[in-house]
Amino acid sequence: MNAHNATVEIDSKAGFCQGVVNAIRIAENELQKGEKIYCLGDIVHNKTEVERLKSLGLITINYNEFEKLSNCKVIVRAHGEPPSTFNIARRQGITIVDATCPIVFKLQKEIKASNTAPNSEIIIAGKQGHPEVLGLLGQIEGNARVISSVEDLDSIKSFKKNLTIFSQTTMDRNTYAEIIKEICLKAECRQINIINSICKHVLRRKDAIIAFARAHQAVLFVSSPNSSNGMYLFNLCKKENSRTFLISSAEEIDYSLFADTQTIGISGATSTPMWLMEQVAAIVKEKIGTH
Ligand code: SF4
Repeated sequence: MNAHNATVEIDSKAGFCQGVVNAIRIAENELQKGEKIYCLGDIVHNKTEVERLKSLGLITINYNEFEKLSNCKVIVRAHGEPPSTFNIARRQGITIVDATCPIVFKLQKEIKASNTAPNSEIIIAGKQGHPEVLGLLGQIEGNARVISSVEDLDSIKSFKKNLTIFSQTTMDRNTYAEIIKEICLKAECRQINIINSICKHVLRRKDAIIAFARAHQAVLFVSSPNSSNGMYLFNLCKKENSRTFLISSAEEIDYSLFADTQTIGISGATSTPMWLMEQVAAIVKEKIGTH
């Protein structure tokens, strides 16, 4: 495409959250020691960052591979793990390098300490099968219902007398509020204990991304499609600015979409590295010209 002058701005509020920064720092420290180090699952839901750490020596494994390991070091990522993972490690002489985000760790403890008496029930608002949710479920031996949306409540006929409701840390605040409202309408409970467990970092980014989407004619949202938080922020951005495009890297940009665009914003998920957004910004500036 022909170059034209446009402003390209990176969202200053984007980039890794503290939990992911910690996990990556821990991995880099371990890699510097020169020993073989594994990570149970992708350390962050971002293909490019996973590739970068792989090139430094980090070996990503799945659960089947983990169960076959012994006498080695394995990183537990920011999402955390259920106790069963730590039990396997103990049995097999695996040293766990625990990079569980302190906020997730605190939530795991709260769930573990919550009421599991016979007339009580725990609900986790979150994504079925998400690693963080599996880690939370593991704290109470799976004795909780996972609800992803209001529609999931349709098939539930009744609840126990006392309910405690938690959310995944990256849950959308409106969806969480809708789920709580619907449960309150449906459940004839004596007591509903609602825990405000959405991460503050995620809450803050919601307002920031809306303002950022409004401030630009088009937005390139850099994220892997398998990041829950990424898809959540991307959809918020898209709702506010229909010219929001999801890309994993600069190679996926269709420059014909920006022919008449004067302001282009670049944002990303809490799992998108700042260096990747900077790389995208540099390539876009080179292709279309800036003023
Ligand atoms: S989003 Fe929040 S809770 Fe989740 S890893 Fe990041 S800082 Fe921790």
